[in-house]
Amino acid sequence: MADFSKEINKRRTFAIISHPDAGKTTLTEKFLLYGGAINLAGSVKGKATARHAVSDWMEIEKERGISVTSSVLQFNYGGCCINLLDTPGHQDFSEDTYRTLMAADTAVMVIDGGKGVEPQTRKLFKVCAMRHIPIFTFINKMDRDARDTFDLIDEIEKELGIPCCPVNWPIGSGKNFRGVYDRETRNVLTFHDTLKGTKEGTETVISIDDPRILDEISAEQKELLEEELELLDGAAVEFDRERVDKGELSPVFFGSALTNFGIETFLDHFLEMTKSPMARMSDEGLIDPMDENFSAFVFKIQANMNARHRDRLAFMRICSGKFDANKEVYHVQGNKKMRLLQPQQMMADDRHVVDEAYAGDIIGVFDPGIFSIGDTVCAPGKKFSFEGIPTFAPEHFARVALIDSMKRKQFVKGIQQIAQEGAIQIFQEIRGGMEEIIVGVVGVLQFDVLKFRIENEYNCEIRLDMLPYEYIRWIKDYENVDLDKIVGTSDMKKVADMKGRPLLLFINSWSVGMVLDRNEGLELEEFSRN
Ligand code: GDP
Repeated sequence: MADFSKEINKRRTFAIISHPDAGKTTLTEKFLLYGGAINLAGSVKGKATARHAVSDWMEIEKERGISVTSSVLQFNYGGCCINLLDTPGHQDFSEDTYRTLMAADTAVMVIDGGKGVEPQTRKLFKVCAMRHIPIFTFINKMDRDARDTFDLIDEIEKELGIPCCPVNWPIGSGKNFRGVYDRETRNVLTFHDTLKGTKEGTETVISIDDPRILDEISAEQKELLEEELELLDGAAVEFDRERVDKGELSPVFFGSALTNFGIETFLDHFLEMTKSPMARMSDEGLIDPMDENFSAFVFKIQANMNARHRDRLAFMRICSGKFDANKEVYHVQGNKKMRLLQPQQMMADDRHVVDEAYAGDIIGVFDPGIFSIGDTVCAPGKKFSFEGIPTFAPEHFARVALIDSMKRKQFVKGIQQIAQEGAIQIFQEIRGGMEEIIVGVVGVLQFDVLKFRIENEYNCEIRLDMLPYEYIRWIKDYENVDLDKIVGTSDMKKVADMKGRPLLLFINSWSVGMVLDRNEGLELEEFSRN
């Protein structure tokens, strides 16, 4: 029993959120490097060279040299067992990226110091903020010319609406980057170029009050730093652990992932400031991670790893207790006792079968087609459901046309199955049937995946005609809203989702506001709680 709680206590489960190119991959690699999980930096998914799972539809992935699917990396650091959830980015940005955030307890937001808050940072931040999870900020690329530090902080606070508390403060940037000052210890960690991060590098720690500091930074830099700190002490929000825990205050760090600077100090503070797995809400109240009964929820389904068997891999986040591969579990939504098959965990790009895992961990299990996103698995004899995973707003829409109308049946089956896996969302004209199907996706790559899978797995040729809509809104309390009475805009379209819920599609963002203005009492939502 003692071991069991010890294991859970040392778990930390987090995801990195960032805009493409801010340095998420590099930072991940460096975390693994410090965690001793990889020997050489640069081998996490080494975009062009990584090994790829062999499967048919993943040909797309191979052709493009990107990873369509997200993975989880487990490594040890500072006595903690860290689960780092990899959120798909770039072209493979999809609803899975958002769903992965549902499985994290904490988020690390990476911001390019030269660019500040970017569109994807904003979107991912919103999803984390909705869950009120702690959000840590790492301002990266300080070895390049960065924007004014106060401006950066100000932008995060204003644009994202979260107060920031700098834990350390940069001394210069670009060629003049000398390191960071730790506000609590009053120590300066100096930056030495680590040959582009090929070695861990040595960081010198020296107190700001030590005269030898002038060997490391110039007198002007010291003076400027002191001025900035004075300003900061007067203006910045004070560190408050409770507010950090609730996602109401973001601790901010500076560094350079590429050159390994600031990673270790970040990790040390991060582990000290984060908690072991949090309790999760279910329809029977909060489920304590220390509860000895195993429970987990499915947050991602990866289809057809092997096209010959229609198998899938269901990823679950363990929320309480210990998973024991030899014990039966109960699948609540399927109302069935079962054994989880081929439970596996990922380590860097390696997968291995596991016999046990603990609250906070993520396991992938073989899914013969029974799981849906959001499903709960728990100990036999228990019966509760974890809070559902929201459906996030697609941003790209297309009308699907079936080329050979004789194949209607397969086509409908295929598209419904793919939608059930959560790779796409499907919509119909209000009061229309499956004759006219509109597909919505969060990332455009999903269109290619859909076409490929419908053609290869269901043997139907389809054409996708892009639609200009970019904004979708669910109607709150729709049962009490008369759809015919909604006064729309010329670019608005009314559709229904698979559950028959009405939605509004818009081409322009300002139309959303206009429709709200024109229809008193109407409330629109950007995601739907299932
Ligand atoms: P991702 O798209 O967020 O995963 O970003 P990557 O980690 O792939 O980084 C994008 C580019 O920025 C790559 O060329 C990296 O080498 C570079 N990069 C990442 N971190 C740093 C940094 O701290 N300093 C500098 N100068 N370049 C960086």
